[in-house]
Amino acid sequence: MFVDHVKVYVRGGDGGDGMVAFRREKYVPNGGPAGGDGGKGGNIVFMVDEGLRTLMDFRYKRIFKADRGTHGMSKNQHGAKAQDTIIQVPPGTVVKDADTGETIADLVEQGQTAIITRGGRGGRGNSRFATPQNPAPELSEKGEPGFERNVVLELKVLADAGLVGFPSVGKSTLLSVVSAAKPKIAEYHFTTIVPNLGMVETEDQRSFVMADLPGLIEGAHQGVGLGHQFLRHIERTRVIIHVIDMSALEGRDPYDDYMTITEELKQYNMRLTERPELIVANKMDMPDAEENLKKFREKMPEDAQIFPVSALSRQGLSNLLFAIADLIEVTPEFPLIDEEVDESESTVLYKHEKESDGFTITRESDGAFVLSGYAIERMFKMTDFSREDSIRRFSRQMRGMGIDDALRERGAENGDTVRLLEFEFEFMD
Ligand code: GDP
Ligand code: MG
Repeated sequence: MFVDHVKVYVRGGDGGDGMVAFRREKYVPNGGPAGGDGGKGGNIVFMVDEGLRTLMDFRYKRIFKADRGTHGMSKNQHGAKAQDTIIQVPPGTVVKDADTGETIADLVEQGQTAIITRGGRGGRGNSRFATPQNPAPELSEKGEPGFERNVVLELKVLADAGLVGFPSVGKSTLLSVVSAAKPKIAEYHFTTIVPNLGMVETEDQRSFVMADLPGLIEGAHQGVGLGHQFLRHIERTRVIIHVIDMSALEGRDPYDDYMTITEELKQYNMRLTERPELIVANKMDMPDAEENLKKFREKMPEDAQIFPVSALSRQGLSNLLFAIADLIEVTPEFPLIDEEVDESESTVLYKHEKESDGFTITRESDGAFVLSGYAIERMFKMTDFSREDSIRRFSRQMRGMGIDDALRERGAENGDTVRLLEFEFEFMD
């Protein structure tokens, strides 16, 4: 199976900051806290769009950040939650965490969605921190940072358009000159046959997958274990591209070629002849090709779609690709006869990222203690250091996590420097 691969970075939106505010009523000098909470940051959501066939779009954009929530306001008004950022992916996209390899989502059906990473929650406004001891706290949280992760998207590539035709008519040549990008990993389950597969992008940025169908069919004929993957290739192949050598240098008549291959397709009995077909009159750069094409057209039905090209000198290709893309767009997939569908690969749902409470303390050459860890860094980012009440709360939280004790154990004394992210403070026992 061919796999198209891309690595992207996703980050949920930050939560909005909570607000410090107080009610100001006419005859009440200080009417109590009234700062609202920040809104939640947006999630990054992947959604299946059947119109997409490849991961090509991700070649140009690999970084996705969701919007942040709005900040809390006075009069206890909460900030608005940010919209999720929806990213379209083709059906068959498997999303994995790039660091752990864990499967996050297996996106199969039209419209199916999965949250790939979450936005941070909104910071709480000062109303939330009022206590009988401190009824008017000057304390609010900043928004929680959005969750970030690197993910790998994998797509099992299936053919949309299948090339058929006699040997040496130029199928491989055509495929090689129209394929903008080749799948990064070309690993087929059935090593006896390697179908020639390429991803094609038209000038108007539509993309589809083209395969050498005889390669597949011959393999099936030889009885090699193609099975389900093979059937899926054929099923997905909605357009047949019939390549004909118009130079007739090998002594065969182009029209006879056409009829012979059409007859063969019928023999395979996989409803191949029910699919719409384009005819590629190849090798038009050769001396007798024009004359041969004229005779060929006369024998063919009037509505036959014939595209004269030269794969070798790359003539006439962009029109051909437009026509293929157009035809794919309007052609549904055909169920195969005796189809047996493997439903065992069902959907894996989103699992929440690990949030570790642990922290680590290291020592730098200047004697400073360096604190790191997810929870403590998150707490730090959510603290508004411009307010005394916030700083005091941060100290309490550190103590609660056991950080003070751990620092003491490591030998920290009054006045020693402690670093956390880009900030420094003094250890106070
Ligand atoms: P396949 O067996 O159908 O895959 O055919 P290939 O792509 O391997 O091509 C067979 C031969 O035809 C090669 O020598 C190609 O260079 C040649 N060929 C392919 N396309 C053209 C073309 O447009 N013009 C000419 N003159 N030769 C071509
Ligand atoms: Mg070939």
